[in-house]
Parts: sequence; structure tokens; C-alpha cells
Amino acid sequence: MNEKTYEEEMSERVEIKLVCLKCQTLNKIIDASPAETSVCEKCGLPLLTGRVGELTTTFFAETIENTNLPVVVNFWTSWCGHCRNFESVFAEAASELKLQALLFRVETEEEPELVRQFAMMTTPTQVVFRGGKEVARQTGVSQLPLLMEWLKPHLS
Ligand SMILES: [Zn+2]
Repeated sequence: MNEKTYEEEMSERVEIKLVCLKCQTLNKIIDASPAETSVCEKCGLPLLTGRVGELTTTFFAETIENTNLPVVVNFWTSWCGHCRNFESVFAEAASELKLQALLFRVETEEEPELVRQFAMMTTPTQVVFRGGKEVARQTGVSQLPLLMEWLKPHLS
């Protein structure tokens, strides 16, 4: 049996990896640190806010790949009425899933590259990513209980 290196041991102890939305520093919240009050080690921004973050092309790949929590992205369009109606539902989900998932939104007209990359046909569309890979997608507006039900299998 191989002895584990110090790095392996440390990486196994890491519970949550999060990319700071402000300065893009990769933060690691380990064992004992209370996740609720964790802030970015570089800029001090609270990391698990329970709010929907804004995601752009620049940091998209980095954020979904480096975060080991499920990342749920809502692709929306600012002038779309359905999207605006869905916003409060998505915000509630972000608050309920504060320590279980990260929720972001992407404005499709401002991020045409992401629209192409993910072949976005209509908004709102929600995509779940794990380890940088898409694992689920649904299109349209749902109420909170249905949204939570849909997300549940992807949360652990
Ligand atoms: Zn930061």
C-alpha cells in the first residue's frame, strides 16, 4: 500500500473549493472552518452568500471546473418576461441551497460565446455542472418545489 503524500492528504481534507467571484482566487474551505462565514482569502468577499452570482465568459470555465460543489447556471435574457418571473424562484433556490450548490446566471445577449458553446436555444434554461461537466439541463420556468425536486439528485 502506498503512503499518501502530504498533498494528497491535504486535498482529501478539502471539503469545498470555491472560486471568488470578485478576484477569482481559488479558495479551499477545509474541515473545521465554518462554511457559512468563510470569506475569500485574498479580497475578503463572503464566499457562500446564498445569492445568485453573475457569470461571464471570462471566468466561466474556471468557475465551473474549480468549484467542487454542484454549479447551477440559469441562462436568461434581460427582456424576457418568463426569465424575469423565474428570477425570484431561482434566487430562493440559491438561498435554500446556500451550502450545497452555487447558483449563477448568465445573460445570453451579453455572452454569445457561452450561448454557442452550450447550444442555448431558448431562455430561461438551467444547466447543472459537476466537475466542469454538464450533468443536467432543463428549459423553462418552474416553481420552487419543482426546481428543488429537479436539482435534488445532483446535489450530493
Ligand atoms: Zn476574492
